[in-house]
Amino acid sequence: MSPGLPAQRLACPVRGCLQPLGYAPEGRGRVFCGRGHSFDRARSGYYNLLQPQDRRSKSPGDSKTATEARRRLHRRGFTQPLLDALSAFAAIEPGASALDVGCGDGFYLGALVEALGLEGHGVDISLPAIEAASKRYPAAQWVVANADRTLPYQTQAFDRVLSINARMNPSEFQRVLRPAASGARLLVVLPAADDLCELRGSGRIDRVERTVTEFAPHFELAERRYVGHSACLDAEAIDDVRLAIYRPGDPESSVIEPNIGSRSVRFAWDLLLFRPLAMEEVPGTFASE
Ligand SMILES: [Zn+2]
Repeated sequence: MSPGLPAQRLACPVRGCLQPLGYAPEGRGRVFCGRGHSFDRARSGYYNLLQPQDRRSKSPGDSKTATEARRRLHRRGFTQPLLDALSAFAAIEPGASALDVGCGDGFYLGALVEALGLEGHGVDISLPAIEAASKRYPAAQWVVANADRTLPYQTQAFDRVLSINARMNPSEFQRVLRPAASGARLLVVLPAADDLCELRGSGRIDRVERTVTEFAPHFELAERRYVGHSACLDAEAIDDVRLAIYRPGDPESSVIEPNIGSRSVRFAWDLLLFRPLAMEEVPGTFASE
């Protein structure tokens, strides 16, 4: 076994394979499956398991600009209340395995690993985001893959799955979680209806009900909590919010005008803790393409 990060929860990302990946004997973190597919570990420690057919574009996911803007917002403390709430709400035992799907630059998972001694795994489709995560938080394992498709992890590998302001894949979240009786839970964080309301304008939809309905075939809601605070943002911070949330084609993300000066801004999240339903209640265990 190579020194460094554990890979034993990874599964082969080649279409239809999903065999467990193990370390190759020559070391250097290279992993391979029983069918002979193999993957190198990047110098900064992550695995790029993104398959050609799972790319949406040449450089999918968040850009370097968006990743850096988000990092500056984290560093200035605007997301600290969410991080504090996560530690308590997720109720994770030290040493438990946690997968953060759509982890971005790894801010939340990395901090939880350091604070709680978790075995942390993060996956995101953005190469710049995963590069930043693996440099900043070497104690966790970071993977580039398309989390909208089959997750490159073994079935029932995790005690917690986290989805923080990210896209969701309910059937795959259920597949990679251990059974509910073992205490396994899914934690979903959504932007609340009043999140960034001063910048986005009114008429934002409440996503909680829609999310609970979408997850109902695979999960039942166990608990929910609201976390919010207001902060005075200068022009630079507002510009970073704009860069961090902009997504081409998303009308909600393009409301913020540049150069609007400083103002008080609300940050707010809905936290949903879900219990997985028993796997046999669900036909098939693989996400459809
Ligand atoms: Zn394979």
